Amino acid sequence: MSFELPKLGYAYDALEPKIDARTMEIHYTKHHQGYVNNLNAAIQGTDLDNKSLTDVVKEGSGNTAVRNNGGGAYNHAMFWEIMTPGGSSEPVGNVKAAIDNYGGYEKFKEDFAKAAQTRFGSGWAWLVKNSDGSVSVGSTANQDNPLMPDAGISGFPLVGLDVWEHAYYLKYQNKRPDYVGAFFDLINWDKVEERYNQ
Ligand code: MN
Repeated sequence: MSFELPKLGYAYDALEPKIDARTMEIHYTKHHQGYVNNLNAAIQGTDLDNKSLTDVVKEGSGNTAVRNNGGGAYNHAMFWEIMTPGGSSEPVGNVKAAIDNYGGYEKFKEDFAKAAQTRFGSGWAWLVKNSDGSVSVGSTANQDNPLMPDAGISGFPLVGLDVWEHAYYLKYQNKRPDYVGAFFDLINWDKVEERYNQ
């Protein structure tokens, strides 16, 4: 079995002006596709070959090619999903309650922005669900994912933000904080709530 590039739920220009169409197109058709292709090559003929992407990420991270490309495939699929044109303003439902317990939406934004901005080099910022239903904020290097046993933050990923330069450089150049600030207006909190409840 091999993984396929999941369908993008909106047009390349749908997140303009916060994320420009050119970046979106290259990011999806070149970077994301590349992770999927390289993952398929890395798992071919191994015991990961017919597992779900989630299980590949959880179980395969000891192999560098699987770790980097499995993480890349999962992280990007999730990233596209948890954004929507115009965003959906603020957290809803159970994830709202968990964020309220965390310290509130403003504290989440502050901590998440800090995690994204202080991640040196390439990586991701995360909001994760812990096993007790609480949420935490952190970041990982490269294409590491909180489902991997040694990623530096663990839990079920609810929100992930790609802070690789390929995600923002065409529009924002070195101004990562501006890109991070714009991201909050794109989060699809209904989808995040769905992830929280799954
Ligand atoms: Mn990326």
